[in-house]
Amino acid sequence: MTVHFPFDNTYAALPDGFFARVAPTPVASPKLVKLNRPLALHLGLDPDWLSSPEGVEILAGKRVPDGADPIAMAYAGHQFGHFVPQLGDGRAILLGEVIDADGVRRDIQLKGSGPTPFSRRGDGRAALGPVLREYIVSEAMAALGIPTTRSLAAVVTGENVVRETLLPGAVLTRIASSHIRVGTFQYFAARSDVAGVRRLADHVIARHYPDIADAERPYHALLDAVIGRQAELVARWLLVGFIHGVMNTDNTSISGDTIDYGPCAFIDSYDPATVFSSIDEMGRYAYGNQPRIALWNLTRFAECLLPLFCDDQDKAIAEAQSALGGFAEKFDAAYYDGLRRKLGLFTTRADDPELANDLLKAMAENAADFTLTFRRLSDAALGPAGDAHVRQLFADPAAYDAWAVRWRQRSSDEPQDAAARRAAMRAVNPAFIPRNHRVEAVIEAAVNRHDFAPFEELLAILAQPYEDQPAFAAYAEPPEQHERVLQTFCGT
Ligand code: AMP
Ligand code: MG
Repeated sequence: MTVHFPFDNTYAALPDGFFARVAPTPVASPKLVKLNRPLALHLGLDPDWLSSPEGVEILAGKRVPDGADPIAMAYAGHQFGHFVPQLGDGRAILLGEVIDADGVRRDIQLKGSGPTPFSRRGDGRAALGPVLREYIVSEAMAALGIPTTRSLAAVVTGENVVRETLLPGAVLTRIASSHIRVGTFQYFAARSDVAGVRRLADHVIARHYPDIADAERPYHALLDAVIGRQAELVARWLLVGFIHGVMNTDNTSISGDTIDYGPCAFIDSYDPATVFSSIDEMGRYAYGNQPRIALWNLTRFAECLLPLFCDDQDKAIAEAQSALGGFAEKFDAAYYDGLRRKLGLFTTRADDPELANDLLKAMAENAADFTLTFRRLSDAALGPAGDAHVRQLFADPAAYDAWAVRWRQRSSDEPQDAAARRAAMRAVNPAFIPRNHRVEAVIEAAVNRHDFAPFEELLAILAQPYEDQPAFAAYAEPPEQHERVLQTFCGT
């Protein structure tokens, strides 16, 4: 018999309290919307078989593949600052783990595959719109080079889900280096289950941070490592204008990947106070708040680890605080290093952050488009002839002129020639991001008109974000006033 999924499951081998065994709920008549063929191959899966009727039934949860050990993971979490001791996979089922072509262990999870013991009042299902949004944005993030879960497939179930209206149901097959969250640790810590926290920490170290297994104080090293990955991740988000939208501790991955795409969105014009999510009424998860929220979430993680640090609680707290105190430095290093590269600077000078911040300030005051400003600035690296295209993005173009003089002065201190600077800048300043109005238009066409051609087109464009793709230049443009999408919805 052919082994279609070379499963090698480790999470399902953890003690019973870590998860609930539950199979996906069969659906009426599944149809494949999209299969990520390159990703399938990378995972050692046969894309032709996955698109066969048998493969599609598995991707829809209608059939369980050989070797799968389907489970819903237990976790807790702070949602908008409020602790919920039990959340868990309410509409997701982990089929199992495979080792990819790089030797990395990957979870294969169905999202929207029916109720689980953690569903609470939910139906365990997902609607097509949010599935397509997650597919598009997670794959765009991957193409931008940002750590993220991936999308292997989207299927429609042939059944409706009840939201405010009846919507077509869908299942996303999500790939992750793991689905372990800060909230997974909180689940055990909230139950004073120190053995559970330790077991989970050991699993995480073996899986995500093997280098620290032999460290003198592995749990301290784990906290430092997760702080480092999260600091780096959030810096990468800011550098492309990404707003996660629901940075709850249950949506904060321990491996440092972007996870749980809900009402996420990219900013068009630069404003750190930007919020799109309809449920984020207080702006807790605004673009510019993300670093401080990451630190807040990491503090919740540190609290879970305290009993593993030492028996003297005061000492453990002091050690955790010292580690958390390192977040700002780690974040600043990643963020300003990224900004320096966006400005085409090859060397480091103490006043570079000021130069970068002054550009961002001018952009905010003049509603300049974030992505286009940096992309066009890359061309302006060739000389002042390129300035016209940048300055027209600013409500008051003179705000750019004053800054550009300083930028040219700074650049001219470096030996690199203009062409090298332009090339380096174009490699970090994307032309194409999943702009909100484009994502919404794609979803509208698919859900209301069963037209998936715009979805395919957008995916193809976003797969090469740093290429010019002149035929699709319109996709690089910000929305016209009447096209602007001001709110996004999580659609759960
Ligand atoms: P999210 O905000 O989407 O990350 O979800 C938060 C919690 O709600 C998680 O425990 C989810 O599993 C659960 N949840 C979200 N949508 C549903 C649904 N349709 N049915 C059951 N549980 C859900
Ligand atoms: Mg979640």
